Amino acid sequence: MSNLEKNLKKALKLGEFRLFYQPKLDLTLGKIIGVEALIRWQHEEKGLISPLDFIPIAEKTGLILPIGEWVLRTACKQNKDWQEAGFPPMVMAVNLSARQLYQANLIEMVARILKETGLSPQYLELEITESMMMEVEYVLEIVKKLKQIGVQISLDDFGTGYSSLYYLKEFPFDSMKIDKCFVRNCTEDIKDATIVKTIIAMAHELDIDVIAEGIESKGQLIFLQQNLCNKGQGYLFSKPVPSEEFIRTINEVESIVKRKGISQEENK
Ligand code: C2E
Ligand code: MG
Ligand code: MG
Ligand code: MG
Repeated sequence: MSNLEKNLKKALKLGEFRLFYQPKLDLTLGKIIGVEALIRWQHEEKGLISPLDFIPIAEKTGLILPIGEWVLRTACKQNKDWQEAGFPPMVMAVNLSARQLYQANLIEMVARILKETGLSPQYLELEITESMMMEVEYVLEIVKKLKQIGVQISLDDFGTGYSSLYYLKEFPFDSMKIDKCFVRNCTEDIKDATIVKTIIAMAHELDIDVIAEGIESKGQLIFLQQNLCNKGQGYLFSKPVPSEEFIRTINEVESIVKRKGISQEENK
């Protein structure tokens, strides 16, 4: 067993994982409509470790199953706590890994955690990626069963995997997320701009919600608004932050769309 693997196991036992929360905004109204839970590892010596550095190992070793279950439970409980504290209900998005999707008892686990935490299924969204579609028909069945429970399903990182249009046609996705690699240069690179516009138009035609990831600048926000992308996420609004900070900064975050978006430009 590698060191990291041993440490990951210990981290779970010691409770060293944290969830950070990043808002998803309605780019027309400026309101927070959802939140994505993103895991971090609070290492006693190394500090905060990015999921990019340990999720791949957790996947390889299978530790992603208990870790994923912890993420799901913690995120659902947090969302329920916010609702009980009187905040307007938001949809909580949780990233699934391939290994979890192919886990035999995924459906039962999701149902059980919803029941345990008391969160209504409509407020849970599971994000999956195209790279998880190794066995398309199997995944389709799982996704349909998850939809039957009442949770929402989102296609993350759209455009970076196999991007088969077959998925968009056959899968009952509630939303798709335009990967940040296309958003990054959409105001400078004509090809990125075209790809982003085309994804937005296609999503609208297919009646799937579309959300842009990785919005960092005012220019990107305006480009997306002009091209009728009505949902977005990114550092321009907020980085992923701990739960207390998320709640403390809601008003500030919601004012950003109005201050930096299109209506502001027009009023000048
Ligand atoms: P993702 O699900 O596509 O999450 C988006 C990533 O982009 C997050 O990185 C987020 O912090 C980052 N991001 C958000 N806005 C911006 C922006 O404006 N600019 C830039 N440059 N980046 C932005 P993070 O938190 O490091 O997570 C990376 C990936 O790790 C996630 O990508 C997801 O695939 C995976 N991951 C995170 N948490 C979990 C988890 O609980 N379970 C599983 N299975 N995977 C997770
Ligand atoms: Mg995601
Ligand atoms: Mg993504
Ligand atoms: Mg990504």
